[in-house]
Amino acid sequence: MRNYDVAVVGGGPVGSTFARQMAEKGFEVAILEKKKEIGVPLQCAGLLGKKIKKVNILPDEFIINPVHGAFLHSPENTVLSVSKEKPEAYVLDRVGYDKFLADLATDSGVDIFLNHRVEKVDSVSGVINLKNNPNAKISADVVVGADGHSSIVSGAFNPPAKSFQAAQYLIDVGEKRFQKDYVHLYVDSRVSPGFLWVIPLSETTARVGLFADTSYQQLNVILKELITKRSELKGATILKKYYGVIPKHDPQKQLVKDRVLLLGDAASQVKPTTGGGLIMGFVCAEIASRAASKALENENMELLMNYSKDYREQFKKELKVQLMVHKIFKSLSDSDLEYMFGKLKQEGAEDIISHYGDMDSQSPLIKEMFKRGIIFSILPKMLSWRISSLWK
Ligand SMILES: Cc1cc2nc3c(=O)[nH]c(=O)nc-3n(C[C@H](O)[C@H](O)[C@H](O)COP(=O)(O)OP(=O)(O)OC[C@H]3O[C@@H](n4cnc5c(N)ncnc54)[C@H](O)[C@@H]3O)c2cc1C
Repeated sequence: MRNYDVAVVGGGPVGSTFARQMAEKGFEVAILEKKKEIGVPLQCAGLLGKKIKKVNILPDEFIINPVHGAFLHSPENTVLSVSKEKPEAYVLDRVGYDKFLADLATDSGVDIFLNHRVEKVDSVSGVINLKNNPNAKISADVVVGADGHSSIVSGAFNPPAKSFQAAQYLIDVGEKRFQKDYVHLYVDSRVSPGFLWVIPLSETTARVGLFADTSYQQLNVILKELITKRSELKGATILKKYYGVIPKHDPQKQLVKDRVLLLGDAASQVKPTTGGGLIMGFVCAEIASRAASKALENENMELLMNYSKDYREQFKKELKVQLMVHKIFKSLSDSDLEYMFGKLKQEGAEDIISHYGDMDSQSPLIKEMFKRGIIFSILPKMLSWRISSLWK
């Protein structure tokens, strides 16, 4: 049985990044990945806030488009247009980027074992059982579950994870209709607190998708309706369909047990408002690599708990705000949403969102809206009491 300092279950972007960071600190690291090929199939809209450049390596070749703004559509198509002078986000070639991050890990000395599906992890001994190769056991002093939304590593000491369903089409509208640096986001009470998106890849092609707490069948109905109803999408040809899962953020999730820790989607480290997981996952990989290296250097696995503590300290406030926004959106009907969009437009919120909006941190914008009294002026009165109690 081969023993490593660190074994990472899952060669997704977060697992690969963590593995590379640990190898760069001088540890022997393995990644066990069930797929034969990293990164496929695509299960991502590939929209990353500008912070990505601060939290991981991102060569320009993986940026399809920089994004300067967004059109936010109400159910009846009241449109709020928000923009920034500098790119606020990037649309990525996510498949290429996942492969690149795995290659970086290999270059740093990480052993990547493809086609290695982990079946069980013993959190006390660090022994890992593989499904397709029961005799070839691997063990590690620290085992990291970065095995995505349905993490078997998490399942050993957490209740089954809850998640949203997501669907996405690659479409071609056949003529130049998209402004490449503007994304479209649509609210619809049937999918709230999820939403729909159109992310242009070129002037004629786009990723069109949504996530919601509903069946894939219903997602397809809503997506097809969007394509027929909205003028910017009418007549589109669907080139490809993708389906995926987005974990619901769970603040109660246990992230560390004995010599095992959870990371990325496996730890439900996703933004509640957008379902985006990459940036938060990368930040958490850094926090985890600090705690794991200390635990290994001191041969004291109790130090892994610092990961859980530091993560919660860093994200607690922002996640609380996002969970509140999430709850509010879930409770709004289409007519509430319509009213809200109309009021926001009237109150000049486009400028405020353009100035304070940040894809990765919504609390500055929400605070500003509270400060200016906009929140209380736009939401139906019956909800006001609930918001003020949530804010406490
Ligand atoms: C439709 C859709 C759109 C999205 N859009 C965005 C977006 O625009 N921006 C954003 O930031 N995020 C987005 N996300 C979320 C984002 O894709 C995830 O947060 C991100 O992939 C999490 O990375 P990860 O490395 O934690 O997990 P994953 O990418 O899920 O990687 C987990 C890896 O573990 C492997 N694995 C699983 N089980 C085992 C096992 N038993 N043994 C071995 N290997 C295993 C899997 O094969 C996979 O390679 C989207 C998600 C979906 C579904």
